[in-house]
Amino acid sequence: MLRNKVQPKRRWLDLAPGDPVIVVAGKDKGKHGEVLRTLKDKHKVVVKGVNILKRHTKAGQSRGGVSVAQGGVVDFEAPLDYSNVMLVCPSCSRPTRTKHIVLESGARALVCRHCGEPYERVRKTEAQ
Ligand SMILES: [Zn+2]
Repeated sequence: MLRNKVQPKRRWLDLAPGDPVIVVAGKDKGKHGEVLRTLKDKHKVVVKGVNILKRHTKAGQSRGGVSVAQGGVVDFEAPLDYSNVMLVCPSCSRPTRTKHIVLESGARALVCRHCGEPYERVRKTEAQ
């Protein structure tokens, strides 16, 4: 088996679905959006309203194992590379790089480089 494929370095993804981000590179540069989902393995994120592509399909055509009943042009949000987006700090509303700290409780937190405010991610009931 050939193993010549470049394995991307596993990095902790700072982004999670629901995070506000700004696109800093690519054709949608400057756009704001919300993370819809993250593709950890591919190092990509899907951002709402960003990187819209049109997929032309014919009725009955099979795409990726999914049979399309209705033909036409379908808009969809294509994943863009994680490095092309930056998190927008809710405290100072600036696109920011984050640094990681470990709280006294042992929990991991993201901190804004500009204002030093910890970024509180709205998570669905973490304390369970
Ligand atoms: Zn900030």
